[in-house]
This record gives sequence, C-alpha cells and structure tokens, in this order.
Amino acid sequence: METLIEKQPSVYAFGNKKADGRRDMKNLLGGKGANLAEMSRIGIPVPPGFTITTEVCAQYNEEGKESVINRIEPEVRDAITTIEETMGAIFGDDENPLLISVRSGARVSMPGMMDTVLNLGLNDESIKGIIKMTGNERFAWDSYRRFIQMYSSVVMGLKPESKDDLDPFEEIIDHLKDKRRIDQDTQFTVQDLQDLVYDFKDIVQKRTGKPFPNNPWDQLWGAIAAVFDSWNGDRAIYYRKMNGYPEDWGTAVNVQAMVFGNMGDDSGTGVCFTRDAGTGENVFNGEYLINAQGEDVVAGVRTPQQITFLGSQRWAKLAQVEEEERKESYPSLEELMPDIYKELFEYQNKLETHYQDMQDMEFTIQQGKLWILQTRNGKRTGAAMVKIGMDLLKEGLIDEKTALMRIEPNKLNELLHPIFDLDALQEANVIAQGLPASPGAATGQIVFFADEADKFKYSILVRVETSPEDVEGMNIARGIVTARGGMTSHAAVVARGMGKCCVSGAGALKINYKTRTLKVGDHEYHEGDWISINGSTGNILEGKVATKEPVLSGEFAELMELSDNYATMEVRTNADTPKDALIARNFGAKGIGLTRTEHMFFEVDRIKAMREMILADTIKGRKQALKELLPMQRNDFEGIFRAMEGHPVTVRLLDPPLHEFVPHQLATQKELAEELHISLAAVKGKVAELEEFNPMMGHRGCRLGNTYPEITEMQTQAILEAALKVKKEGLTVKPEIMVPLVGTVEEFNQQKAIIDAMAQEVFKKRKDTVEYSVGTMMETPRATLIADKIAENADFFSFGTNDLTQMTFGYSRDDSGKFLPIYLEKGILKHDPFEVLDQEGVGQLVEMGTQLGRKTKSDLKIGICGEHGGEPNSVAFCQKVGMNYVSCSPFRVPIARVAAAQAAIS
Ligand code: ADP
Ligand code: MG
Ligand code: MG
Repeated sequence: METLIEKQPSVYAFGNKKADGRRDMKNLLGGKGANLAEMSRIGIPVPPGFTITTEVCAQYNEEGKESVINRIEPEVRDAITTIEETMGAIFGDDENPLLISVRSGARVSMPGMMDTVLNLGLNDESIKGIIKMTGNERFAWDSYRRFIQMYSSVVMGLKPESKDDLDPFEEIIDHLKDKRRIDQDTQFTVQDLQDLVYDFKDIVQKRTGKPFPNNPWDQLWGAIAAVFDSWNGDRAIYYRKMNGYPEDWGTAVNVQAMVFGNMGDDSGTGVCFTRDAGTGENVFNGEYLINAQGEDVVAGVRTPQQITFLGSQRWAKLAQVEEEERKESYPSLEELMPDIYKELFEYQNKLETHYQDMQDMEFTIQQGKLWILQTRNGKRTGAAMVKIGMDLLKEGLIDEKTALMRIEPNKLNELLHPIFDLDALQEANVIAQGLPASPGAATGQIVFFADEADKFKYSILVRVETSPEDVEGMNIARGIVTARGGMTSHAAVVARGMGKCCVSGAGALKINYKTRTLKVGDHEYHEGDWISINGSTGNILEGKVATKEPVLSGEFAELMELSDNYATMEVRTNADTPKDALIARNFGAKGIGLTRTEHMFFEVDRIKAMREMILADTIKGRKQALKELLPMQRNDFEGIFRAMEGHPVTVRLLDPPLHEFVPHQLATQKELAEELHISLAAVKGKVAELEEFNPMMGHRGCRLGNTYPEITEMQTQAILEAALKVKKEGLTVKPEIMVPLVGTVEEFNQQKAIIDAMAQEVFKKRKDTVEYSVGTMMETPRATLIADKIAENADFFSFGTNDLTQMTFGYSRDDSGKFLPIYLEKGILKHDPFEVLDQEGVGQLVEMGTQLGRKTKSDLKIGICGEHGGEPNSVAFCQKVGMNYVSCSPFRVPIARVAAAQAAIS
C-alpha cells in the first residue's frame, strides 16, 4: 500500500543567507548544524553546505551502512550540486575543484565525536585545479598533505602505535626537517611538500593495508560513515555517561564548502568569545593565527595572537613579552586588520544579542574576506555562569526566570571549592608562568599521561598539549597544565567546561614523555612530584600550597537572593555540629532538617561513656552511663541552636546499630576491659552478643528507643534543657524531635509518649517551657503505607530516602558497591538510586506517604533529609509532591536553593 505521508528529508541545506533548518532544530540537525542554518538565515556569512540529520544516524545504527548510504545518496548528490553552484566549483574537478569539510555535531558539543576532516575532495587530479585556481603551488600541496594526514588518522584510524610514540606523519615530517636542516613547517619547499604527500600515501598503504582513496565520493562516504561510527566510539560513550546524555540522540553530519585561512598573509583563522569564559567578564576576546587553517589555533602548534588590543596587552604582560616585541611579532587582529576586526566585532554583538547568551565562535579569513564557521553557547566555568547570567539580566537581555533557569545548579559546586591562601601563595616558589586558562586552585602529583591520572589520589596532568583522547583523564586529575596552546586550546576549553583548574601555554616547561620528566631551566621535576597550580593567575608553584574556604561574593549572593524570591520550598541542612550548622547558615540554610546525634558519641571523650552504657547489664548501669552523656549532648545542642539563630532544628534520636560503638579488635577490647574494670571475657561476650546477621535491619532506629526507653529519655532531656537555656539567652528555639525508622503506629506512639512525659518533667523542673514538636522519619516502606495513621500523632514527616531506597530496592547501602557499578555499566539502572532519587519506584512511596499524611493533617509539615535533598532532579520531584522543605549537606545548600527556585518556576 502506498503511504501518503511525505518523506522527511535526510539533508538540510544552508548558505547564501538562506537555510532549510533553524536554531530550534538541534535535535534533528545537531547543535552545529542548527546554528550554521540560523547564522545563514540572519545574514552572517557562512560557507554553504548541508546537514545530514541525526535520524539518519539512528537508521545507520539500525540498518547498517550500505542501506543508509543508498537511500540518502540522491539527496546528498543534489545538495553537493547546490554547493557547487553557489561556489562556482565542481567536486573532484581538475580545473576548478570544490573542496569540502565534513564535521560531526550532536545536540550538544561532545569532545568524543569524530574530528573534522578538512580539504576533502583533494586528489591527484583536483590538486592541479587548486594550483591553477590559486596560482599557489605551496598552498595546494600543503593542503593536500594536511588532508591525507587528517583523513588517514580520523577516518582510517591511523594512530601512533603506542602512547609515547610520535604520530607516524609527524615522524615523517620530523625526519624530512632533519634531512633538510630546517625547523619550521613553513620552510618546506614545494618539492618537500610533494614528497610528503607520496610518503604519506605509502605509510597509509603500509599501515592499513589499503590505498588512500583517490575518488572524492569514496572520500566523502568514508567520512560520513566515520562520523556515524564515532557516535559509538569509546570516547563518545564515556562523555555521554559522564554527562548523562542518552544513547539514542545520535549525531548529525555537516558537509560544508571549504574556506581557506592558509592562503597567505591576508588570510587567517581564529576562535572568539563574546565574554570571558573563565571569569564571565563582559569583554570580547579570542585568539587567531595568520596564514593558518582549522584547528591550528586550538592545537597549540604556534603561539596564537589575541584578537583585541586590550587582550593582547593583557596577554603580553602574562607572557612577559615587551610591548615592542608584541607589536612586531604578536599584534592583535584589531591592530593588524582593523576592518575585518570591525566586522567580526559586529557579528559577535549580533550573535550574542540574537542568542541572548555568551557565544563561542570560529571564523576564517580568506584573502581579506571574513567567514563565520560556527557559533554556540560558550562553555564556561561556574563563576562565569553566575556572572554572565546576572549580567545579562541587568543588561535587560534576559528576564529573571530565564536567568535562573540557565543556571546548572551542580556547577555552583566550583564556587564552593577552596582557594589558595594568600600568605601561602606569597611564600610559594613559582616554577613557571602560563595562561590563566580555567580559574581555581589545585594541588597534586605530576602525571604525564591522561590514562595514568588515577595513579595518585591527587594528580596534576602535565602535557605538551591535550587532545580529545585525554578527556577522561582530565576529568580525573585535579588540575591540568599544558606547555603549548592558548586560552582557546583544547585543554583550556575542556577544563573550563568541567570547571577544572587549568594553566595552559606554559612555554618554559620542557616535557619529556619518555623519561617522564619536566624541566624548567635547570630544575627537573619527576612524575609523582607535588605541584600546585593557580588557574586564576597562570602560576605553577612548587609543592603543596595551603588552601582556604572561598568567600561568596557579589553576583553569587545576588543569584541566591533571586532564587529565594522564586522558591516555595525551604532549604535546610543536615548538620551534626555547630561548625557545620554555621557553614550552612552562611550558605543560607533556613534550618536543620537532620541532626544525627550518634556522631556526637563517636568523639574520643564520649565513646567511653557510650560503651559503658552499651555494656551495662542493668537499667541502673545504663542510666548511670547515660547521665555522663547528658551534659555533653546538651552542650552540643546548645551550640547548634545558637548557630541556627531561631530557625527550626530537627534532632533525630539515636539510630545506628549498637555494635558500631563497641571495639572489635583485641587490643582495644583489652583497653576497654581495663577502663571499665571488667574482664576481657565480659567485653568479648557483649561484643559477640551485639553481633547481628543484618545490622541494617537489626536492632537500630526506634527499636533502640523502644527497647531502651532511657536512651530516648536522656536525649529528650538534653534537647529540651538546651533549648530552655538558649531561650533564656534571648534567642528563639524551635526543637523538632524525630523518631527514626518507624514501621508501625505503636512504634511511634510509644516513643512520643516517652518524649512528652520527659518534656513535662523538664518543664516542671526548670519552671519554663518551650514549644517543641515530635515527628517521624519516613524511611521504611511500611511507614509510607500507613502514613495516615502515623500522622494522627506526628507533627511532621521527614523522608529518609537513603534507608527508604535501601529497603525498597532491597539493596544494602554498604554492599551495593559490588553490583551497582556493573548495573550502571549494563544499563540495568540509569542512575545510582542512592544519588538520584528513583522517582518511578521509591518516588511512589514518597508521594503516597505525603498524600496519606496530609489526608489526616492537611497542614502536615513534610520534608526530605536523604542525600537526595541536594540533587537537583530529586529537588524538583520534592516540589512536585508538595514538600515544605528539602534538607541537604551544608555545601549543597546553594545548589538546592537554585534547584528549588527552578522547580518552582517549572
Ligand atoms: P569542532 O567541533 O571540534 O570545533 P569543527 O567542525 O568546528 O570541529 O572544525 C574544526 C576546525 O576546522 C575549526 O577550526 C573549524 O573552523 C574548521 N573548519 C571546519 N569546516 C571548515 C570549512 N568548511 N572551511 C574552513 N575551516 C573549517
Ligand atoms: Mg568547532
Ligand atoms: Mg535512616
């Protein structure tokens, strides 16, 4: 049967101020393709070309190469014809050949995808045409040898044999340089370049067993297939996992007419940003090279020059280049080609306003004509993200909601990292100076290879330059140093995206991969030596330099305020000590959602009394020991109440299995026996008695308080006495007493009766009262099922999603390390459910518990205090089910505040 549905095109053309695609078609055309189309639409000069859709990639993965190529061939041939007409050149022609680039491009820019192939279409015939057209034999042969080099490595997989081997092509180049006694590529003669082409082709045949393809169409199909294949390459898979991007997105392929930045001194290529991607400062900046092509700027082979005059002066100061030398050898584009600069400046302005966000652009100048090759929302550090967002808001380019929604909450983490202590910095010995490529402070041991970044706990990856293969190791390392490359080098861009500290282009470093050494002047450093790097100044320092906590400044504070204006849930913190409570207050926590009292018992002076209590055989003995613990607990609570300055504090009664408090080693058991004046056998006996087959489901939580009510009594007394004391000091105190691990109504009710009785006793004795509430942790599946009944007596619920996840999945938190990684790897689970709340399963229990609880008490206060309370997706879920607050660790409070605002907006 014929279908009437019109076939979806596989190919979308752009160029000549027109385009089939648009910016909002990223899912179909990939980010690069959608933006090339958009730029063309709004009149920015883009070399003509077309995009093969991501849907074709999906078909390719399903049906295989042959079938897909057959189907799209007519459309691709038509699209090439259109480019030929626009450019007035013919693909593969020996008179007037068209050359093209083949570029990958997923929805979001992914370092794992196939590298771009430039100059495709060159062969032994079309080279003649290029020579004839340009009259520039040097340029033609140089382009040809670059093409073979690129195509062979990217498409045919010709790579160095081992990691400290040179690239086979670089080896041939070096060999020829030695023979000819020259040291620059630019010194090659035309004959040299021609020799290189034939030597290159020989090595391709030798290493791959296949001849280098001469037919341009074979070249093109090879490249297209390689782009699709790269979607399932190791690098791409790793990057997808790291960022949680789904596998079915696929990549598009962009095919585009070449423009040449290497046609002489009136040509060049560069990269620029509409604002500073490291700091967020509102200054146009970037780098370029004269007479260069494609990745030359990023690859760090030559020292790139700054685009703006201001940038050039700043650079010269850091690179210690005198003004005269700067002007002579490294002038800015603004000085060298003022007209082109003006045009570029206008485009960057236009693009930033059009996209309403900081743009990262690529451009090429061919014989005095400017072409834009790419624009995208620029990767940036956490600090730049905040500053740019708040600045764009102030400039009126975006509104408050947009500003808030653009923040990636997890990226705020970077702003909470330690920074170098100024005094320690002053005393530190500077090894070398590079460029401040990605701000921050990092200290670690030197490694020279990305795949060895995990050799030390804290490593600094030191490379001549980095490449996409290194991304995994860069992510593991604490910081990154490169000897070559500028502010837009691969290392710099990737590091900023990861928020990782990076110093690039430290030219004084002489790195020897074979001996694994780093030489600066006559100092030599080895693998494993400690260094510190300052990504904000570009300094590389000897040894470990001390760090301190960051201060949260201007725009960050503004962002927090803005978040609170929109958020409807409160953000509390999980804090067990006054110190943590203070940190959280500084980050804006509006109370404590969980104080774990057991942490207070682990301190040296207390563990003894605790053990005495546990080892006691009688109630009397236990009460005696508890009496010793009482003042200590009271003291802790006072500190916490004071730190929270009138905000509510939820204190959880003792929760962990008792065996965690007793010594398990003979030596410490002996010590304890001596201290308590009892026999070693008695200690051993008690320890054995406490041994449980499954402690996580054993004698813990409210089962402790129900079997040993005196523990609940002592803790209640300590909490309320502390509250009364702090109240006397003139502060408001709002204690909330929380009963853990409840599963039945009676479990809770009996604990509550004990708490209330003790409260009356304390109030009577002290002749004063304080308002307190008693609630429960919702962390067993059963509790969520009978939540309506628990709510009859409970003042609040707090979902303890760590235990709830453990018990719903039946995964022991302590043993899940054995299988969770494999489950994630195999895709059995999408996320670690202890990190990201399982909304599908555990979430149902949370939702049901909330609804049942509110059915009984419509204003029941409900929150979450598991690790999930600071995870943005889970925060959004908490908003959806109608919680009053989320509680998370102190350093996640700012993240949760933004996440809560975002959840309220959407
Ligand atoms: P990436 O995604 O790694 O940035 P690109 O596809 O943007 O890869 O290309 C790599 C380099 O090649 C960039 O510098 C880009 O500007 C350049 N380039 C790509 N296509 C062309 C072209 N048609 N003409 C000139 N330069 C090109
Ligand atoms: Mg690019
Ligand atoms: Mg628990």
